[in-house]
Amino acid sequence: MTYFSFAQVLKGALTGQKSWTPQWPEAEPKASYDVIIVGAGGHGLGAAYYLAKEHGITNVAVIDKGWLGGGNTGRNTTIIRSNYLYDESARLYDHALDLWENLSQELNYNVMYSKRGVMMLAHNVHDIQSFQRHVHSNRLNGVDNAWLTAEEAKRFCPPLDISPSARYPIVGAALQRRAGTARHDAVAWGYARAAAARGVDIIQNCPVTAIRRGPDGRVTGVETPKGFIAAKKVAVSAAGHTSVVMETAGVRLPLESYPLQALVSEPVKPIFPCVVMSNSVHAYISQSDKGELVIGSGTDQYVSYSQRGGLPLIEHTVAAICEIFPIFRRMRMLRKWGGIVDVTPDRSPILGKTPVPGLYVNCGWGTGGFKATPGSGHVFAHTIARDEPHPINAPFTLERFTTGRLIDEAAAAAVAH
Ligand SMILES: Cc1cc2nc3c(=O)[nH]c(=O)nc-3n(C[C@H](O)[C@H](O)[C@H](O)COP(=O)(O)OP(=O)(O)OC[C@H]3O[C@@H](n4cnc5c(N)ncnc54)[C@H](O)[C@@H]3O)c2cc1C
Repeated sequence: MTYFSFAQVLKGALTGQKSWTPQWPEAEPKASYDVIIVGAGGHGLGAAYYLAKEHGITNVAVIDKGWLGGGNTGRNTTIIRSNYLYDESARLYDHALDLWENLSQELNYNVMYSKRGVMMLAHNVHDIQSFQRHVHSNRLNGVDNAWLTAEEAKRFCPPLDISPSARYPIVGAALQRRAGTARHDAVAWGYARAAAARGVDIIQNCPVTAIRRGPDGRVTGVETPKGFIAAKKVAVSAAGHTSVVMETAGVRLPLESYPLQALVSEPVKPIFPCVVMSNSVHAYISQSDKGELVIGSGTDQYVSYSQRGGLPLIEHTVAAICEIFPIFRRMRMLRKWGGIVDVTPDRSPILGKTPVPGLYVNCGWGTGGFKATPGSGHVFAHTIARDEPHPINAPFTLERFTTGRLIDEAAAAAVAH
């Protein structure tokens, strides 16, 4: 397996880049495993890594129907933040933020975590009240978040148009300075390499077509085109397809799957120093290390399993970006793409055990699960290994939709995010 170091890079440069070896082996499925994880996105790979590293469980397979990281992990706009309203969410996302800090060192893989700050714009009195409530709540939870005037927001992000005559006037902003971005596919590759190095099998291009249960109701394994693979425990981390996979085990989930799109502009020199989100207008923007403006918005209005979204949403988003940042009006857009996100009624994830013994689920991250990747993988591994939730994910049960103990971040933000 290849490990990167200055000496390796130099050797590669001097030998025509022929010295590199695959970063993880192509695995063929064994007859049985202690744990099978369905879905090789960041969450599934992260869980496999922490199962091996922290719980000594290495007889693990991560199975994906496509290529590793080819789902939402490789399609998202990489915004990382933890300024959620409710205590439960703040704990979960801030746990992830703590792990992001040292993830490159942990995996010996540069995930390019960049603490450039995420600023959320307020356009009206409701936004001011909502964001200030978030700021106070975050501070009580030890999560950094600060309120800025419009002038302070402009100083932090000079391309912002704060003129009072703007179509979406800016009346203030909430800024989380520890928040930022990371390189999405490096996260998947880093976890994959580190998990494989500890003995985890990563099996690509192998859809799980059914989860099998024994006469006592417990999971026994999964069906795939490569045959039945037995497992003591099965953990599903299949994002937009979770409800389809779980239904084969007889578990119905309160999920809806929507296309979510993003797009990038032609590359330009560094101009945009942070991430800016406008929840009311539903558009957000940052600049990638390649120089492209990375732009995203909300989900399509209709459920679908197509990995591309409708044009009207993109038009609306770009129009909003042009209003807030007139400086970008003459830029050309380079490409757009979509993913399928799984959305729960309260816009918080489901992360834990299921009514089926030996079956675990990690889903419902909707439009915002990338930021949680290390924290989610970490507590999901704990849940699988010990058959009980970690205190951090204990509130994120499936039962909350029957007991009514929702963690309603959708209502808190007044938009789906
Ligand atoms: C356009 C877009 C922008 C986004 N922007 C952000 C953002 O800025 N910040 C943020 O925090 N989040 C963002 N998200 C959300 C984020 O990408 C997801 O919540 C997160 O990546 C989910 O990770 P995952 O590992 O659970 O899922 P995925 O990476 O989607 O992995 C699931 C895997 O399961 C596999 N799978 C599905 N069915 C099967 C099957 N039957 N058998 C085997 N494998 C199967 C898929 O192939 C896939 O690889 C965005 C999403 C999109 C689409």
